[in-house]
Amino acid sequence: MNNLFDLSGKRALITGSARGIGNVLAKGLAQYGAEIIINDRDQQKADMAARLLVAEGYSATGYAFDVTQSVQVETAIAEIEKNIGPIDILINNAGIQRRHPFIEFPEQEWDDVIEVNQKGVFLVSQQVAKYMIKRSAGKIINIGSMQSELGRKTITPYAATKGAVKMLTRGMCVELAEHNIQVNSIAPGYFDTDMTEALVNDEAFSSWLYQRTPAARWGKPEELIGAAVFLASSASNYVNGHMLFVDGGMLAAV
Ligand code: NDP
Repeated sequence: MNNLFDLSGKRALITGSARGIGNVLAKGLAQYGAEIIINDRDQQKADMAARLLVAEGYSATGYAFDVTQSVQVETAIAEIEKNIGPIDILINNAGIQRRHPFIEFPEQEWDDVIEVNQKGVFLVSQQVAKYMIKRSAGKIINIGSMQSELGRKTITPYAATKGAVKMLTRGMCVELAEHNIQVNSIAPGYFDTDMTEALVNDEAFSSWLYQRTPAARWGKPEELIGAAVFLASSASNYVNGHMLFVDGGMLAAV
């Protein structure tokens, strides 16, 4: 019987994957057979992360571009498709967080969050989808958040973008499904990474999190691999437009 979760022969581009959740997902997909393209804004950081995967016996290449820059994105995707090979799987993972009370939120920081978390998903997906359409196959996975559904003080623009990721996922699904492209989203709960370092180190926040989350703990980035492999593999060929919460039950609880 074929292994539904086998990614051998598939190539995956993961944005913002030189560190954090993206890096863990890159290794996770590699473990299931995928060839990996690590993306970062800095070519050296992308190369370094790719080299670490290669040293472990996986196939990986580093490729630098900024997800907010349309010309860079278009050029990079064209070069990857031509020189490395077809992108079968795209994970839109690059994201940033900025925290201020709503009433004091600086306009520039609002713009920065929208550019990376929302426009970046649009720009990279649009370019990759053009090639996927020609092949009548593809998997796109957008990284959402609890804030795709829930508000929280001081992070209104982040929540606005992650809500948008949910609807970008549905909108892209509706247009791309006829080309045999599945577009889904993973919405992580609270995971211990650089992005959440200040919260991890804040005892009051962690104790609130333990009370608020049925699993009563922080998530480990490795716990997102199963969802990513599922949505990247043929196991999910009839799953489309879905947002899969990996949140220790947080969304289920009041
Ligand atoms: P990190 O801050 O650890 O990593 C973010 C990554 O995005 C970095 O590799 C960063 O690269 C990259 N990045 C930022 N801006 C750009 C850009 N313009 N172009 C290309 N890459 C860029 O965050 P996490 O790993 O925690 O988060 C990854 C994703 O998961 C994000 O979308 C985040 O919103 C989401 N998420 C995280 C949660 C958590 O609890 N950690 C919870 C829910 C969702 P560089 O090194 O150059 O800065």
